[in-house]
Amino acid sequence: RHPQIDLDPSEFGAGFRIVPNREDDTLLLDVYLYDTLSGGAGYADLAARNIEEILQQTLALLEQCPAHCEQSCESCLRHYHNQYLKERLDRNLGAELLRYALDGTLPKEKAPAAQANLLRNLQRLLELEGFACTGPVEIQGVTVPLGVASSNQQVAVGLRPALLTPEWQGHSFSNLSPTTASVVLNEFVLGRNLPDEHQMVRNAVLYEK
Ligand SMILES: [Zn+2]
Repeated sequence: RHPQIDLDPSEFGAGFRIVPNREDDTLLLDVYLYDTLSGGAGYADLAARNIEEILQQTLALLEQCPAHCEQSCESCLRHYHNQYLKERLDRNLGAELLRYALDGTLPKEKAPAAQANLLRNLQRLLELEGFACTGPVEIQGVTVPLGVASSNQQVAVGLRPALLTPEWQGHSFSNLSPTTASVVLNEFVLGRNLPDEHQMVRNAVLYEK
């Protein structure tokens, strides 16, 4: 992408590995860049000297793709050599991971209306089965993206950012009373495995006390 360096993606490679952290029981993600030509054309050296600027520009590209694509396109992540991966490329997820790597910023919970939007397909499935769905809806002062009710009870359904584990406590649902049933789904998994997420909500509405 550098205007003065006419670099073909086939001349420059990147990879990653996951390694144990020697200091504690966490894992480290190493991302590395390398020249593909034998002897090296020096691109990796050049990249190392300018890594701060490269990472900042990469972050800007991921967060504000010039084509405003949904997940990936030729203006941001896709090129000839990664076309076999295109279904899996997601610039928003990449941006969240890179921002965390750069300064430790955790991804933020989306606004209730945006969560409600992503939950539409799940909502349709549940409505087909006869569950009463509303959302966003106000419960105990918390704007809940989706409320799902059976004759039994109502369950609050929301989404957490893809990179955060189920143990994450920062969701606005933490302000609901402990007796209010709630389910917080992973927004990335929801987009790729609707049947499982549907089952999880269904079970919560039907069986949870
Ligand atoms: Zn794009």
